[in-house]
Amino acid sequence: MIRNGKACVNILRSLALLSLLSMAGSAAFGDGETAPARDPKQPVDEAYTAKIHKYTTQPFFTSPLVDYLPASKNVPTPEAVLGDVAGAPGILPYAEDVYKYMRLLEKASPRVKVFSIGKTEEGREMIAVAVSSPENLKNLDENRARLAKLADPRTIKLDDTEADKIVAQAVPVYYITGTIHSPETGAPTALMELAYRLAVDESPYIREIRDGMITLITPVVEVDGRDRMVDIYHWHLSHPQDFYPPLIYWGKYVAHDNNRDAMGMTLKLTENVLNTYVGWKAQVLHDLHESVPYLYDNTAGDGPFNAWVDPILTDEWEMIGWRNVSDMTKFGMPGVFTHGVFDTWSPGYLMFIAAMHNGISRLYETFGNGGADTLKRTLDPQEYARTWYKQNPPLPEVLWSQRDNNNYEETGLLTSLHYFNENKRLFLKNFYLKAKRSVTKPAAEGPAAYVLPADDPRADSQAELLRVLQKQAVEISRATSAFTVALPVKKPAKAKKEKDEKEKEAAPAPTTREFPAGSYIIRMDQPYSRIADALLDYQYWSPDDPQKTPYDDTGWTFGELFRVQVTRVTDPKVLDAPMERVKEIRAPAGVSGEGTIFAINNNAEPSLATLRYKLRDASIEAAEEPFESGGKKFSRGSFLLRNVTRAQLNDAVSGLGLQAIAVSAMPSVKTHPVRAARLALVHTWLSTQAEGWWRIALHNLGIPYDYISTQTVSKISDLNAKYDVILFPPVGFFAGPTLVINGLPSAWGNPLPWKNTPETPNLVGKNDSTDDMRPGLGWDGVEHLQSFVQKGGVLLTATDTSRFALSIGLADGVSVGNAQKMKVVGSVVGTRLVDGASPIAYGYDEKLSAYCDNGPIFSLSSISGGRSFRRLGGPMHTRPTGRGTMDDPDFTVGRPNVEVPEEPKSEIWETPPVTDEQMHNNFRVIPPADRARVIFRYADSKDLLISGLVEGGDEIAQHPAVVDVPTGNGHVVLFSINPVYRGETRGTYSLVLNTILNFDSLNAGRKLAEK
Ligand SMILES: [Zn+2]
Repeated sequence: MIRNGKACVNILRSLALLSLLSMAGSAAFGDGETAPARDPKQPVDEAYTAKIHKYTTQPFFTSPLVDYLPASKNVPTPEAVLGDVAGAPGILPYAEDVYKYMRLLEKASPRVKVFSIGKTEEGREMIAVAVSSPENLKNLDENRARLAKLADPRTIKLDDTEADKIVAQAVPVYYITGTIHSPETGAPTALMELAYRLAVDESPYIREIRDGMITLITPVVEVDGRDRMVDIYHWHLSHPQDFYPPLIYWGKYVAHDNNRDAMGMTLKLTENVLNTYVGWKAQVLHDLHESVPYLYDNTAGDGPFNAWVDPILTDEWEMIGWRNVSDMTKFGMPGVFTHGVFDTWSPGYLMFIAAMHNGISRLYETFGNGGADTLKRTLDPQEYARTWYKQNPPLPEVLWSQRDNNNYEETGLLTSLHYFNENKRLFLKNFYLKAKRSVTKPAAEGPAAYVLPADDPRADSQAELLRVLQKQAVEISRATSAFTVALPVKKPAKAKKEKDEKEKEAAPAPTTREFPAGSYIIRMDQPYSRIADALLDYQYWSPDDPQKTPYDDTGWTFGELFRVQVTRVTDPKVLDAPMERVKEIRAPAGVSGEGTIFAINNNAEPSLATLRYKLRDASIEAAEEPFESGGKKFSRGSFLLRNVTRAQLNDAVSGLGLQAIAVSAMPSVKTHPVRAARLALVHTWLSTQAEGWWRIALHNLGIPYDYISTQTVSKISDLNAKYDVILFPPVGFFAGPTLVINGLPSAWGNPLPWKNTPETPNLVGKNDSTDDMRPGLGWDGVEHLQSFVQKGGVLLTATDTSRFALSIGLADGVSVGNAQKMKVVGSVVGTRLVDGASPIAYGYDEKLSAYCDNGPIFSLSSISGGRSFRRLGGPMHTRPTGRGTMDDPDFTVGRPNVEVPEEPKSEIWETPPVTDEQMHNNFRVIPPADRARVIFRYADSKDLLISGLVEGGDEIAQHPAVVDVPTGNGHVVLFSINPVYRGETRGTYSLVLNTILNFDSLNAGRKLAEK
């Protein structure tokens, strides 16, 4: 293999030299296009150039664009800050150093300007660096005003002639973002050098880019994670013989998922990049990643394409992508390709901000070594295989350096910038056309608007959803009076004749709908209608789709996941309803009525939990049954507050979208106290991302918790002394019991510390630390969790931690089945309320949409050990072979017929009733009070799919989705769905919050089986 690899390398080397030679004087580019070549009159920085050559491991891993560095008398090269050239081995700059260099450039050159674009969760700065001609940079505001007219064609009355005039004058903006994924470390140095080249190089090829457009660069997107990664790399350099800790935290909350936040907009980095992109009216957002050899332009990707993007954009993807491949192929650089395995369905990626805001989304995967070491890299066969879209594949085995990676990144970007500039009038016109088509959406494909009715009982969640849309730069309007719209006429489904007859008898479907004054209207005749449409609409991923491995989630419908009413309106008359633009969304809140006791209806608004923790001294009780008071109806779980003044309560609810009603006397309804539980959130040292979404949700709701690791659990013998509720959110990382309990392998090697030292000052931030990441929960930890539950604690688990809890016997009477064909890939599914009297269900209705990603298939048993006894042979539910028709009783010759006893029946989600046979001296029968209590189950097979992909759904249909298992004096609450995910699932948050608030009354309303 190695010999073959070497032979391959040699052949390629000579081919590359040939192509480099032929490049010099050839006309490889189209008519009138400037060939990439340096300006022979401009001196070269010889020392810097020599190092570029030294650190490039093969002559064909570079290009005529980056194999030299032009010299400048007054502008410092990256060496000024790095102490070596960009991409040098052993050098990874902190974000601060990158910024320092960019600001040196700004000082030395009128062609560079640095802008601060916001802060991260940990308070670090994010920047954007503009590089262009001094004239362009002087006229930024004027140019922005031009671009703004193209971005919002309503300002020029959709006048194409006017647009053409602006297109002819405007200078486009190409926005590049680096290192959102912290272990992908190469972009910052590549972007430092790119900024230098764009500012200094006098070759016609670069000059055209500089004069013709504005290149905008955010060199580090995940700044918190970058600084941690550089820390780790420094640790690695000073302990070269040791293993180094994996980067378990990137940003404060999430790792890789920071590139899945462009829908929910929960993270600061997403908000800052979106504001920069939209604020600059940029045409392109190009995000740099490093996980595929050697340059995968996954812009075009694979099907299915997101259904809401404009086909003009998908054509642009192909144009730019293939041109990129073509240019770099001509340079003789192997392993450059587009298409590939990435499907372009989910709009959650950072670069998709551009796709959803009328620009061009782009993404590179180059090849990184996760640090600045030069390494021998061996590829998998599918990586070096030649395919239709990868005619010049990467080599099976190479020595690869950070400089090689920087060469690819810079060459790709420079050819992209040049091609974009050559065709900027086309792309600017397209930018306008895509915006115009967004504005004309109601009359074209529709819909005309989405309406969120004023009478939605969940005003706070409605406001939260609208705020997400506002972060997305979507305009929100509000009806100033009631209005009526026509409803779309549904085609009758192809049903059986009998059913049709029945439907005819039923009341005719309404043809109009009236919305009250104050309803929110999201007009689709606005420039950013596309993102609102994509978030609020439904998704359908066909099980027959040729794409069998969705890259990410397949469904996300925000109204469903936020549990907020959203109506898609196709009737264009909705746009004539009297309305006004809304700047700030404020859900109605306050106290009304007279009295010293206050009632707040429970609609499962997460802000109820916020209120409980805010009003520490108030006495709050939950009603165990619905009641009426002061002429108002209150649902189960409604709050009754005492020991709080009207003024205090008014102040507390004002930001929470809650309405309290004062009553003079305590209503006669059974209640229990709602206490502010002492809460712990447990994480592993395997992965912290999935639980990171839980942390940020609790943080935003103002719910305090201790953040402890499985190692800490193993050290606290009396968890009950500190906590009432322990959340153990999903781990991810394929974490089975072996990994969770044993932790990372420690048979050899050194401890992996995660702590702040002079060498690693940024690792911990305000998160957790340990001397050694390797140990897991351990058997002590298992025992502590078990004793915590036995002594009255509540343990809440979801998806893989539910499997974990069951596999180590923390709860009895629940088993997990193996899926055979089921594929529920990040989908929105239907669930149904089973036990509305459970406090976990307070505020919920019969139907609830939830996020599911192949959740565990729970089955219940009334017999300890999970499954009931298996008899010999399979169960028999039909009549045996014998006399008569199928419905007839059989006979036995020579004796009178006997009545067959009725077989006890139960639904799939229920605990099967205990039979008399099972009762005989059977200590394995779980006492009724200890049996699992199902709160929600998955919907029937036909109702399971709400959005996304559901294949083989009958395997999980009707099975329990949320189960409360009484264990000793406490409870284990198991979720098959993931209730807290990516800031997108506010509608299911309260299943968790209700468990927390009612931790010592979870058995309320429970009906027990007779035996
Ligand atoms: Zn990445």
